[in-house]
Amino acid sequence: MDRELIENEAEQILLESSHALLTPKPGECLVCYVDRQFAEFGCDNTHRFAMAYRDHAAPRATALLQRLSVLGACCCDCEMFMNAFHPASRLWTGGYWQPGSDGYDTWVDAEPPARMPPCAGVRRGSVQPCANWDAAR
Ligand SMILES: [Zn+2]
Ligand SMILES: [Zn+2]
Repeated sequence: MDRELIENEAEQILLESSHALLTPKPGECLVCYVDRQFAEFGCDNTHRFAMAYRDHAAPRATALLQRLSVLGACCCDCEMFMNAFHPASRLWTGGYWQPGSDGYDTWVDAEPPARMPPCAGVRRGSVQPCANWDAAR
């Protein structure tokens, strides 16, 4: 077998497996979906996950990228988490004063959840985040 053929085949397998991973789960929201893909593939400075979500789950959301850009995510998917959506406040830990045994309170920093819970679900065709996310502004 020549080398090029082998490489093409490997590429094909890669494409097929990433295609399987890129399919949103039934009822999964845009933001949980993109969050899940990041853990796997990271950001490539495009909206590839948002676009994949749209293609699979919300083909009629043609203005999705404009909408994301209004929310502060103009250029790539990870900006969705920096600028547009944060884990819902009920999922954070800390952010309060803890009474200490010495009589002094210590501040416990607010921390986002290390792992997001499973998607709370959205109706099919929606590009809204589920209840696990708050809009940042
Ligand atoms: Zn990015
Ligand atoms: Zn969700």
